[in-house]
Amino acid sequence: MSSQALYRKWRSQTFDDLVGQAHIVQALRNAIAANRIGHAYLFTGPRGVGKTSAARILSKAVNCEQSDPRLRPCGECSACRAIVEGRAVDVIEMDAASHTSVDDAREIIEKVQFRPTQFRKKVYVIDEVHMLSTAAFNALLKTLEEPPDHAMFILATTEFHKVPATILSRCQRFVFNRHTIANTIAHLEWVAGEEGVFLEPGVAEAIARAATGSMRDAMSILDQLMGYGEPQIPLSRVQSLLGATASREVETLVAAFAGEDVAAALSVINTIADQGADLRQFTRDVVSYLRGLMLLKSGGSADLLDVGHDVLATMQSHSQQLALASILAWLKIFSGLDHQLRTTPYGQLPLEMAVVEALVVPAPVAVAAASPIRGGVAPVARPTPAPAAPQRPTPVAPAAAKVEPAIVEQPPQVVEAAPVAAVVAAQPLPEAEQHIVLAESEILLAEVEAVWLQVIEDLKPYNPRLQAVLKSCEPLGLEDNTLLIGTPSPFHTKQLDDQTQRRLIEDLLAKAVGRQIFVRGEEANRDQQNRARDARRQREEIMKDHIVKAARNIFDARIVGVQEDGS
Ligand SMILES: [Zn+2]
Repeated sequence: MSSQALYRKWRSQTFDDLVGQAHIVQALRNAIAANRIGHAYLFTGPRGVGKTSAARILSKAVNCEQSDPRLRPCGECSACRAIVEGRAVDVIEMDAASHTSVDDAREIIEKVQFRPTQFRKKVYVIDEVHMLSTAAFNALLKTLEEPPDHAMFILATTEFHKVPATILSRCQRFVFNRHTIANTIAHLEWVAGEEGVFLEPGVAEAIARAATGSMRDAMSILDQLMGYGEPQIPLSRVQSLLGATASREVETLVAAFAGEDVAAALSVINTIADQGADLRQFTRDVVSYLRGLMLLKSGGSADLLDVGHDVLATMQSHSQQLALASILAWLKIFSGLDHQLRTTPYGQLPLEMAVVEALVVPAPVAVAAASPIRGGVAPVARPTPAPAAPQRPTPVAPAAAKVEPAIVEQPPQVVEAAPVAAVVAAQPLPEAEQHIVLAESEILLAEVEAVWLQVIEDLKPYNPRLQAVLKSCEPLGLEDNTLLIGTPSPFHTKQLDDQTQRRLIEDLLAKAVGRQIFVRGEEANRDQQNRARDARRQREEIMKDHIVKAARNIFDARIVGVQEDGS
């Protein structure tokens, strides 16, 4: 079986099958039922999350012969079947990656004028549309402006920011989410069940983690595992396939860290590399393990970790031996490696450098003990103090404004972490120890504030008028993943109400902070603005602390207040 076969075989065929994209399914269903179908859609999101499947389902739905529009696509009529079987001449799928020229675009445009031969609608599905050349975009633009009634375009891209604003503004845009681990596990188990294969405990999860949100990758791994033709897939097979030498090598590495044994740590890296293991996967495993240590150390419940008993016991022992500051510093170092490992021509060098940075370069600051919250099981032992080294420039990454797009595409696994409160120590305070409890929405708001001016700047090439509007607005607060923007007048609010303009801001924000945030404009009086400004100053103070900065990149946390600890 080819590695794509399983993904194709179990590709979603109806809106019901489309995993993890409920918001999109609902909107498309409503449009179909009300017969209010747009002439151009843009599906954006990471690879392997169902964009192409959704495009096919939509192609079927607009052409389905079922008389009740609410039941389209039926999957059984001749139109639905023709599309599934790939013999529908009126559904034209094209991969822009291999058809980037203006001639390709012209060819489409010439043919688009002809009526469909079999169906009601001629549907053009253009995948990876950002790959089109500028000339091709311009040619396409004219058609998108005034498409014939019988034609419809579904554009898909993993990199919407490379799609010109003129195209964006003519499409209805849907943002596909990365699959959650839970969604991926459920789908893997369902497919395995349908295929009559039993997955041993832990197998689906190991695959889901390795696939980092891409169902296509998950299916491809399952496909390879099923290639052995066994009725039951053992965990060890997944681990050897993924090159995830799994917990043992990771534990050895962390043990070497705990013993400050550089030679032992480097030898682990070389063993892994010699085995031909996937270094990125290994790095993700290290990050995942360190995240576990961080959670244990900061009083999080062991339930958050989702690991077996053996691993948990080792983790608990490691967490006793290590200082939170060291764990955070290592997390910072290792979670930033993914992009480097993907692009480096130097094999394991980035990992070796990370080891040396982690152990040879001293930890930045001594940090006070974390105290547990919500009465969880407290790690009683005081952390070993970090070496009292001269303070070097903070090794912390710059503010979120500089998040590299590549990292945004492939965030480290820890992003999947369930929102969890934790306590992180602030800058060392000589007398009283100060603890800051962090909250997700506040952290996110601070991140938005950090990139706000950049977002306004980024708007310029797309919509200079909107840029001018936004310059006199400011973020007021963030709730339910929606940024409330304070505006000075009803005119400004109206600009933010405009769907196209609002989406543009949302897109640029998503690009800057690495996750989807919705925006809403609301007129704010002077009082509200002053209060927002005070709150912002306070947040800025807190965010100055680089340990907190590191922590907020690692897990979702919440600033709920500052506690004095007199002990
Ligand atoms: Zn049908």
